[in-house]
Amino acid sequence: MDVIRTVAELRQRRAAIQGTLALVPTMGALHAGHLMHLDVAQQQADEVWVSVFVNPTQFGPNEDYARYPRTLEADLAACEARGASAVFCPEPSEVYPPGVEPAHVDVPGLADQLPAGLEAAHRPGHFAGVCRVVLKLLMMAQPTHVTLGVKDLQQLRVCQAMIKDLNVPTEVIEIPIVREPDGLAMSSRNAYLDPDQRQRAAGIQRALQHAKQRAQQGGVHATELETQIAQAITDAGLVVDYAVVRDGYTLRPIDELGNASWAIVTARLGAVRLLDNLRLV
Ligand code: AMP
Repeated sequence: MDVIRTVAELRQRRAAIQGTLALVPTMGALHAGHLMHLDVAQQQADEVWVSVFVNPTQFGPNEDYARYPRTLEADLAACEARGASAVFCPEPSEVYPPGVEPAHVDVPGLADQLPAGLEAAHRPGHFAGVCRVVLKLLMMAQPTHVTLGVKDLQQLRVCQAMIKDLNVPTEVIEIPIVREPDGLAMSSRNAYLDPDQRQRAAGIQRALQHAKQRAQQGGVHATELETQIAQAITDAGLVVDYAVVRDGYTLRPIDELGNASWAIVTARLGAVRLLDNLRLV
């Protein structure tokens, strides 16, 4: 497995590939959720590359960029064991060379305060940073496939829209959410939780599963479910940033529960923000 730190090396390595190439973009601190991306990528492409890059431009000034877990040695070992043929782990100055004028890609319908809101309302500038780094990684590695997780549903929809509208010749592979045995969605940030918080965190998935049962019984409105989900998560001892039922593709509010209704939640335990979502119908 090659460990690649510069764009020039990456391009050289890319030029030697004949078949299909899947890129798995990550911020490292790899867990079983990330490894599922590698496994699915392996089934769909001849070669799999992983990028490990804690992207500074998607963090706000008061967010956890500095303390985000960095476990490169373990990540490299996990990628090698899972059959990746290269890991791209550049320094920030390689991705954002000084003196280069920043360019922005915007997907306003999905990534602005209105109409979508969600993470955009809580993390101003976040999706500008996400779009910029994802597009950069796709231009650098020129993969035929890229894996993106449903765990970050808004990020997935924003990136899919960007890739489609800008005719990026890369196919998106959606990866379902990998969970802990108690239902908590795996996340590199779960490492921040103390044992008590870790136990409470499972309340998110319980609330979502309960909402799914109610939705499938019928006769319940989206707004009622939103209130119930928020209450259940609050009762579990978390602070709800938002708990909404939306169309899972357009991320627009819905009147009636229907085919693409998803519950989308972000809740906090202390300083730790936990994202989750579940398709209801
Ligand atoms: P991150 O390292 O958190 O930026 O995540 C890298 C990729 O893994 C993104 O496409 C995420 O949506 C995805 N991902 C994160 N957590 C999970 C999970 N629990 N299951 C599946 N994919 C995930």
